[in-house]
Amino acid sequence: MKLALVGIGKIALDQHVPAISASPDWELAATVSRHGTVEGVPAYTRIEEMLSSHPEIEVVSLCLPPVPRFLAARAALEAGRHVMLEKPPGATLAEVHALEAMAAARGLTLFATWHSRMAHAVAAAKSWLADRKVHSGRIIWREDVRKWHPGQEWVFEPGGMGVFDPGINALSILTEILPAPVHLTAAELEFPANRQAPIAARLSFTGSIEADFDWRQEGPQTWDIEIDTDAGAMALRLGGNVLEIGGTKAEGAESIMEEYPALYARMAGLVRQGASDVDLAPMVHVADAFLLGRRTAVEDFEF
Ligand code: NAP
Repeated sequence: MKLALVGIGKIALDQHVPAISASPDWELAATVSRHGTVEGVPAYTRIEEMLSSHPEIEVVSLCLPPVPRFLAARAALEAGRHVMLEKPPGATLAEVHALEAMAAARGLTLFATWHSRMAHAVAAAKSWLADRKVHSGRIIWREDVRKWHPGQEWVFEPGGMGVFDPGINALSILTEILPAPVHLTAAELEFPANRQAPIAARLSFTGSIEADFDWRQEGPQTWDIEIDTDAGAMALRLGGNVLEIGGTKAEGAESIMEEYPALYARMAGLVRQGASDVDLAPMVHVADAFLLGRRTAVEDFEF
């Protein structure tokens, strides 16, 4: 299937282009970006022009930041194309509901991707937890924003979500693996005094689950989820890539596919089945943290 990629920036070049190139399902037939291009691929700066020039392109994959994503997604759906959304799927919940309704009304596929759910050990963790009782859990998601988002001012703008940009990856795993849903009961958000989005957040959920997100961690980075159950401790480390049971690495239950190839394989399957996959559970928790969170101002942040 022919595909167009919109928003040729960091994640498009790091992950999407290699995953598409290596896939038997996809051909990258056009790009849309004001500055970015991919060598050898027809490039446009406006999505409307790309859509009218390429009626043969069935699928549009959006790698823009969340705020500009809705208008591009709507234009693609209105032009009868299937749409794949980077995470988080939008800047607000309502706009993603609107896209979902638009796709359903036209019989098109909408895939709100959560790349961390495709990490190697997530499916194994989910199946291990399926018939266990969860007593408590801890998420520790601490990374260095200067290392992973150098100069990306949008992450601290309204709708950029701040530390929830990586934190929502942890929540996408949590909502995938827990045998029963939880909801947020309290949150503390730390906003740099000169910014519109938090740099750190601590969240409490029902089920004695706590989360600690921090974007100021230098040195070793931490992406851990630890769950205590009636059958002992389980942990997912390295962003869902390593499963530990009772403190020992579990062998042999890991996915062989990398995250982005797995997302594109799933998108191909959804299009062939005429299905959509839009799970907003991770984003509901983030919205609830902004609704319920106690805010404190911390020192200014500059890249
Ligand atoms: P990025 O490089 O800052 O942005 C991607 C591209 O979108 C930019 O190069 C820019 O291309 C275009 N763009 C930026 N702001 C725009 C605006 N206001 N209006 C229209 N176009 C705009 O961001 P990214 O890191 O690739 O992240 C994009 C999405 O992928 C985010 O939702 C992020 O959460 C997700 N993601 C990122 C990573 C990562 O490691 N960076 C990992 C997983 C997922 P032009 O200037 O050429 O138009």
